[in-house]
Amino acid sequence: MSQRKRDTICVQGSWEPKKGEPRIVPIYQSTTFKYETSEQMANLFDLKDAGYFYTRLQNPTNDVVAAKIAELEGGVAAMLTSSGQAANFYAIFNIASAGDHIVSAATLYGGTYNLFAVTMKKLGLDFTFVDPDASEEEIQQAFRPNTKAVFGETIANPALTILDIEKFARVAHRNGVPLIVDNTFPTPINCRPFEWGADIVTHSTTKYMDGHATNVGGAIVDSGNFDWDAQGDKFPGLTAPDTSYHGLIYTEAFGKGAYITKATVQLMRDLGSIQAPMNAFLLNLGLETLHLRMPRHCQNALEVAEYLQKHPKVAWVHYPGLVGNKYYELAQKYMPSGTCGVITFGIKGGRDESIRFMDNLKLAAIVTHVADARTSVLHPASHTHRQMSDQELIEAGVQPDLIRFSVGIEDAGDIIADIEQALG
Ligand code: PLP
Repeated sequence: MSQRKRDTICVQGSWEPKKGEPRIVPIYQSTTFKYETSEQMANLFDLKDAGYFYTRLQNPTNDVVAAKIAELEGGVAAMLTSSGQAANFYAIFNIASAGDHIVSAATLYGGTYNLFAVTMKKLGLDFTFVDPDASEEEIQQAFRPNTKAVFGETIANPALTILDIEKFARVAHRNGVPLIVDNTFPTPINCRPFEWGADIVTHSTTKYMDGHATNVGGAIVDSGNFDWDAQGDKFPGLTAPDTSYHGLIYTEAFGKGAYITKATVQLMRDLGSIQAPMNAFLLNLGLETLHLRMPRHCQNALEVAEYLQKHPKVAWVHYPGLVGNKYYELAQKYMPSGTCGVITFGIKGGRDESIRFMDNLKLAAIVTHVADARTSVLHPASHTHRQMSDQELIEAGVQPDLIRFSVGIEDAGDIIADIEQALG
């Protein structure tokens, strides 16, 4: 693990040019890479040598940016994917397949819920959703002999529940499976789940990491801490021969790099959800200021939340950074320097009034996006979560009147003035 501070990693991590090399990480805009002999290429296909040969699997620009994210999270290896959805799919599919089962916190991003409950179910994977606030004993009851992982979002979108990472890690490890945490909202600037026992971290880099709404992307980071071999035949994909590589065993051949190597050379090879190198370049520009933007998002969000809390037309406000919030203590434990810029609240008068308020905002834009430099707003029950029934919405922590307000890094006074005129 690096001794450098996060701010330095954000700006300079993983790209250290030598004499005459470009100061900025170059975009390797090339599908393919040249070799001098047929044998050199054959060795790459057999994984005997490491190297680039086709951008569907790996690209040097992506690898530089992935290495920066790995360093920020304190992990041993990382990979970029074309989206956060792909990251979460790969993170689970890398260790689970048809007939397997996953325990997941119920408060999830709507797209992740659909991925798990609908699409991955069609592939033969079964999910049990548990209340993130459930006791260890209650979570334990969700486990089956074929359970292969536990999943949760550090700060759930949009329920803003805070995952008790240590609690979920304890139950996962007691059952011999890894804890996978989607760390999109706090980013490694505010929380590093590996320090609390998580084994794998995923990101929608589309959010704060890019931060400028320019590119969709994802990332998976491995802590290197989970001992796949110690779990007998639970994870054959990693510990038994892979026939598509002449019987290679990932844990034997790659040690702590086994999980990310398999996801790259097998899943990325076969499913091809690579991040475009141009997007990785843009993502890297976002990462260079992540440590400056996150504190400002949190500071602005707290000011807006405190304003909303006092407003007579506001029915309720939920922000884990607010003193008195249900998740305040957990937020202080896992994210003492701030949570994220996302607030949820409802307007007195219910769903219709909440929608009318949104339509009157001028600075805050209605966009299918969150965690961006610009303040944005969305009504999950009508937008991101519209496939869910009312019961599913409630279980996912989404009230029908819930407004998701993603506080940007503009002047806090201007954001509050916009809210004030819209409430008026
Ligand atoms: N995870 C979380 C917490 C999200 O908020 C999102 C999207 O909003 C995703 C995953 C999916 O990411 P993407 O939109 O990059 O596919």
